[in-house]
Amino acid sequence: MSMTTRRKYRLNKKGKVALIFLVIMLIILTYFTWALVSNKKVEAVNSNLLKTNSTNYEKPSKELVDKSIPEKSDKTSEIALPNEEKVTSTIEESESKEAEMPMETGKIVYLTFDDGPHPIASKEILNLLDQYEAKATFFMLEPNMKRNKEVVKNMKEKGHTLGVHGVTHDVSKVYKSPENFVNEMNHAIDSIHEISGIDTHLVRAPYGSKPYITSKFKEASDNDNFILWDWNVDSRDWQLTNGDFVENTITQVNQLVGKEPIVILLHEKETTSAHLEELLQYLTSNGFKMREIHESMIPVQFK
Ligand SMILES: [Zn+2]
Repeated sequence: MSMTTRRKYRLNKKGKVALIFLVIMLIILTYFTWALVSNKKVEAVNSNLLKTNSTNYEKPSKELVDKSIPEKSDKTSEIALPNEEKVTSTIEESESKEAEMPMETGKIVYLTFDDGPHPIASKEILNLLDQYEAKATFFMLEPNMKRNKEVVKNMKEKGHTLGVHGVTHDVSKVYKSPENFVNEMNHAIDSIHEISGIDTHLVRAPYGSKPYITSKFKEASDNDNFILWDWNVDSRDWQLTNGDFVENTITQVNQLVGKEPIVILLHEKETTSAHLEELLQYLTSNGFKMREIHESMIPVQFK
């Protein structure tokens, strides 16, 4: 009996050990299971937080997750938001700078006024050019310069460019021979010098260089170092006197953006000065600068 009880006791002891071992194993297993489940919950919570933050979709390492998640997400949102603001503000800045860039460099037009000076129109034109901080070039006729010397002086003082357009503006006279052409231009050049002290070589042939300036005319012109300037925008202000020349000019100017220089033909006429402000307003608000021609520039000439 005693043997059996002892054996039983021994067995019971072994069984107890096994039981204890089993319980310990169960506890360990439960602990690991719990740890695993809670870890996954943490991960899930964390990834949700990150998704709502929408700043960083990169899965954080477990080390980062174990170290207080809310703090981490707070930090990322704190850091991310100012960064985002900074990024967007720099994008806005660079966009506005890009938008300003063409205003500063690219879009330049050269306003040229022929046939003046005119006792009324010239003053109005000069005042408008001042108002819009615009510079222009005037190709003038000798008789008109002699009648309006103060205007010529005023043009010089205001920083505009002075050039010549001849004496008669009569095709049968100015283009009678190369000598006639050169003589008319030189008379006008001398007048500008007498009135303003300026020595100019800038010449606009009446009605443009085509078809009148043939090779013989060109040769004579070159001998006297004339710089012939035609135009690539014909406002037709002499014809569209009701102000329609403004729209006509704007259409052509926009077709030439990127193919500068843009040289606009206008005239010192009252019907032009009456509507000139519309053109200056459009050009200014669309980022064009209005500059005067310089003798160092490559002239625009009809081909
Ligand atoms: Zn003319």
